[in-house]
Amino acid sequence: MDDDTRLHNEDQYAGESTERSSKEPAVPIAGPLLLSDLTTSEMTAIAADIELILIPIGAHEQHGPALPVSTDTLTAQILCSLTGALLRPRVAVAPAIPWGVSWHHLGMAGTISLREETLIALVMDIVGSLSSHGFTRVVLINTHGGNNSALAIAAERCHRELGVPLVAPIYGYSLLANAAAEILGPDALGHGGGDEASAVMAIRPELVRPELLADPEIDPEFRQTREILRAAGGSLPVMQHLVSPSGATGDSRFASGEAGTAILGRAAGQLQAVIEHLLTTKLPTPPLRNDGH
Ligand SMILES: [Zn+2]
Repeated sequence: MDDDTRLHNEDQYAGESTERSSKEPAVPIAGPLLLSDLTTSEMTAIAADIELILIPIGAHEQHGPALPVSTDTLTAQILCSLTGALLRPRVAVAPAIPWGVSWHHLGMAGTISLREETLIALVMDIVGSLSSHGFTRVVLINTHGGNNSALAIAAERCHRELGVPLVAPIYGYSLLANAAAEILGPDALGHGGGDEASAVMAIRPELVRPELLADPEIDPEFRQTREILRAAGGSLPVMQHLVSPSGATGDSRFASGEAGTAILGRAAGQLQAVIEHLLTTKLPTPPLRNDGH
């Protein structure tokens, strides 16, 4: 794939200020504002400018034969970086949570999973720390469906128990999938599919094994039952390796870096519009409760 299609990754924004002169700005002025690159005094100096923090949340799980286990974390990071760069300095980006709830992929090598309770506790500790420094608008950008239930509970508990006015989970994968459906067609959508393969080709092409991109075999009984349940708003928990021998569920044969760049650009544009709204909306601060409800 063409290097021109490659999007900025975190490394391009990190480490720019290792040899600062006194004439240089206190923090790098290009790219997203990454909390992990700041010193504590720099943080103090710019804290009042930061109105909202994005937390990328991914997973460490098998993504079929062609994609790395870090696929979801890479896509969550790039969505946050692209959006953060557009909205700097009002929006800053926290380090990604590289682990997720991936019990359904534990049948295949490479997967590391958190329990739902662990992810909830992790998010509450991170949001609680940010809130103690005055950051009261936090958006969780999640690219792994297995995290959605835990993140909904985590956000509710951050609001209800920690009193943080705005903690909103956004399912970043659905933004990618919407864009990919238009660019690559609906068959490309799915775990380790053309949507995710294209995204990784645009972010870190050297991590994709192009000769292994394929249209995966999926148990037809499972596929039909899942579609019927989805159409009714339902879901169907299942161990992935039992219904898809390769571990993937989307057709990745037509993935490309060009498609990935277009998909990520559209998704980041949609995300930017949502975040811009969240920057202006006025929300009530909830009363703190300690009665267990
Ligand atoms: Zn994924």
